[in-house]
Parts: sequence; structure tokens; C-alpha cells
Amino acid sequence: MGETHTIGATSIDRDHELQRVEAALKRLEHGKFGHCLYCGDRIDLERLQHDPAIESCDTCEED
Ligand SMILES: [Zn+2]
Repeated sequence: MGETHTIGATSIDRDHELQRVEAALKRLEHGKFGHCLYCGDRIDLERLQHDPAIESCDTCEED
């Protein structure tokens, strides 16, 4: 957080990552954090630990 340097494509990745994190925080506000965006199932804790801003469960990710 607070990192403002922008170097080529890296900044795009960072913006995208920021958007994912903001979306995850919004889901947290609405009590939907940790649930798949597509089917509403709970996402595995392991997946959340690996990527807290993850938006889909195992099943939907493969789709
Ligand atoms: Zn799902």
C-alpha cells in the first residue's frame, strides 16, 4: 500500500490487483467474502490463503 511508482505493464497488473482487492473488501462489507462470485459456494480456505482476493471456487475456475 502507498506504492505509487508506475513502470510499464507492471502498473496495469497492480491496478488490476488493486481492483480485485477492492472488490474483495466490498464482498467483505456485504458478508459475501470467501464465497464464489459465480455459484455462491464457499471458497476453500486454502485458496483464500493463497489469494485473498480470489473470486471463484475450484469448480468455476476450471470452467
Ligand atoms: Zn463457484
